[in-house]
Amino acid sequence: MHTHLLTLQGLHSENLAVDGLINSPERRVLRAAGFAQSYLDAGFTTIRDLGNSGYYLDREVSSAIGRGYIPGPRMICSGPIISAIDGQFYQLPFKDYDRITAAEYRVVKSVDDAILAVKEHVNHSAGVIKIASWGERLGLSKAETEAIVKTAHEYHLTVTAHANFDGVIRDAVLAGVDGVEHGYDISDSTLALMAKRKVYLVPTDVSIRQGIEMMKARNMPADSATVKAELQPLGDRLRRAQKAGVMIVGGSDAYIELSVTRGDYAKETIASYVEQGFSVKDALRTSTWNAAKALGQEGRTGVIKPGVAADIVIFNGDLEKTFRKYCSMYMQYLKTGRLFLKANNFF
Ligand SMILES: [Zn+2]
Repeated sequence: MHTHLLTLQGLHSENLAVDGLINSPERRVLRAAGFAQSYLDAGFTTIRDLGNSGYYLDREVSSAIGRGYIPGPRMICSGPIISAIDGQFYQLPFKDYDRITAAEYRVVKSVDDAILAVKEHVNHSAGVIKIASWGERLGLSKAETEAIVKTAHEYHLTVTAHANFDGVIRDAVLAGVDGVEHGYDISDSTLALMAKRKVYLVPTDVSIRQGIEMMKARNMPADSATVKAELQPLGDRLRRAQKAGVMIVGGSDAYIELSVTRGDYAKETIASYVEQGFSVKDALRTSTWNAAKALGQEGRTGVIKPGVAADIVIFNGDLEKTFRKYCSMYMQYLKTGRLFLKANNFF
């Protein structure tokens, strides 16, 4: 429920802006076709793409998949992230800052402009509105966020907010957003508010294995005890969120260049929830039942019953008992079964 098919950030080029500067839209779209295939290979039949996609390149990939030009999962796309004037960029030359930011974000300058931004997204068939409640130095105002939510809801679109700090998350929830992405630093009172207002959380967390991969790629010493200790605060907020009754929705936020495919990376994220104490059933539910609910696709996907899209994966063994093992073996099985994997597009 949280990926970026059109973005690839190198581990040594820390600025998100770099990808769009060194790669043409054509190259980004072709690269995304490979990423899309990897999701199918890993068993993901619907994905939600949340921006950093240039000028609606996410929609270009999504419609190519929908028309059967390339294989891939169904895509729900946000189009450009709606943000304040800083976007999520930093360290850009002052004279080019606005131009570079505007190429990846829908920068909003007033309440009226915020309403127009949502209408542009409706016009370009966005399936969800993604906002950056706080970027690098600036955030959307309360009035702007409220206007975005009101307009999106009028057009039957939900709004999800990139928000990390407790105060920012709280303001976004009070302004009426439907979901919160990341939520790294979140208090129990904000979690209680989210539960009350039925706002879901997408914890874009990493497994111990992913953490080790990331540290290795940065030439940093990596052992599982160190990584485990570093992930502990995230696990703690995940367990607190579950306890508070907040609906947890799976999302990998995959955009960093690593030696694993996007699809495998997303499976690792589900494994991270198990590592942090979720039952296998609850972890799988984050990416099936809960994800469908968050998308407003209940009764169409995310559950096995008559009349629902038959997105079924088959395991040889006991998934609950040996979840970790199947997380990686699963891929091998699917690679030989690729021909059978073609999602029916209903978006
Ligand atoms: Zn993201």
